[in-house]
Amino acid sequence: MTDWTTHRIGTGHDGLAPFAVRADASRGRLVPEPESRTRTPFQRDRDRIVHSTAFRRLKHKTQVFVAYEGDHYRTRLTHTIEVSQIARAFARALRLDEDLTEAIALVHDFGHTPFGHAGERALDRKLADFGGFDHNAQSLRIVTALERRYAEFDGLNLTFETLEGLVKHNGPLVGPNATSRHPVPPQIAAFDARFPLALDSFASLEAQAAAISDDIAYNTHDLDDGLRAGLIALDDLEALDLAGDILREVRARHPDLDPVRTGHEIMRRHITRLVEDVIATTLESLATQAVASVEDVRSAGRTLVDFSPTMRAQVAQTRAFLFQRVYRNPLVFDTMRQAEQVVGALFDRLVERPDLLPAGWSEAAQGLPPERLARHVGDYLSGMTDSFALAEHRRLFDDTPDLR
Ligand code: MG
Repeated sequence: MTDWTTHRIGTGHDGLAPFAVRADASRGRLVPEPESRTRTPFQRDRDRIVHSTAFRRLKHKTQVFVAYEGDHYRTRLTHTIEVSQIARAFARALRLDEDLTEAIALVHDFGHTPFGHAGERALDRKLADFGGFDHNAQSLRIVTALERRYAEFDGLNLTFETLEGLVKHNGPLVGPNATSRHPVPPQIAAFDARFPLALDSFASLEAQAAAISDDIAYNTHDLDDGLRAGLIALDDLEALDLAGDILREVRARHPDLDPVRTGHEIMRRHITRLVEDVIATTLESLATQAVASVEDVRSAGRTLVDFSPTMRAQVAQTRAFLFQRVYRNPLVFDTMRQAEQVVGALFDRLVERPDLLPAGWSEAAQGLPPERLARHVGDYLSGMTDSFALAEHRRLFDDTPDLR
């Protein structure tokens, strides 16, 4: 079988497509640093991300099912690794910078609170008067301020390209192409004032590849985890255009296969179909719009790494099914409602009694005005893993729910 991507992309002397980001043309870091002799700036970003505390914490943070509920469910760490695997496949196929793509994929969920969106909802409510809580803005805050491991700067001092990919993964934040009508979160606006991230333009194809890989990963693995948890049966997939079609294909080919292997055969094909659809659609868009440089990508006026319209509808159908059958399933929902209360209660107690914060955090809380104290406690809470949040709740309250 021929490689059906390479003959459609002209590559430069470095093997990258003309529309790829070039590491030697990086716009650099907020704090200038000498170049590494052995690694590109994007390799260094990826390496700093992997060595960070926030990365290790992903291991004990909920994706959908509480992280310790079962050994085989996705955690935010394994989700992140799956996103990175898919994103790197796009980078190879489209001849993009693989290190930059990987760096953006590995950092994309850093800002998630304990207990996923339940924790985020709790913090967003508690911080409503002070600009709210947004996991994406928090990711930026972690890599630009909260990680404290380097002598000469707070954060990881990542390159412009990794940071813009993190911040603009859904598209521009301001201007005519802004994908959201919400104001720019204050933490992003404040950093942008120090180190402009071109919030009105689209991010690179590397960032777009990482973003769509997130959709592909969770729309597939949440079906898989839903099957494992018994919230969905294989036959239920018949209701879905994409997964149902694949189910029939697998059953026709392997009629006697056991349900576990059948499930896996469905999931691997599910990812492949989504990935191949995106590659074909993206190559078509790049050709139609005659995209020949990173600048063309930034000013394209739309996201270029995308599903075909048919596949986009199928992904939306899958997502609606997941909401109905998994995310809003009473078993999952009830756990998450209790988790939301745990995070909310911790917030209230620590704002009222900042002396109960651990060493370092409690000294830094002294004398802060209400707004900054609330953000300080929010930073502390959002960095917690699920297990640590429960341990803190046990330390500060008499009665802690058994979340499972
Ligand atoms: Mg994600």
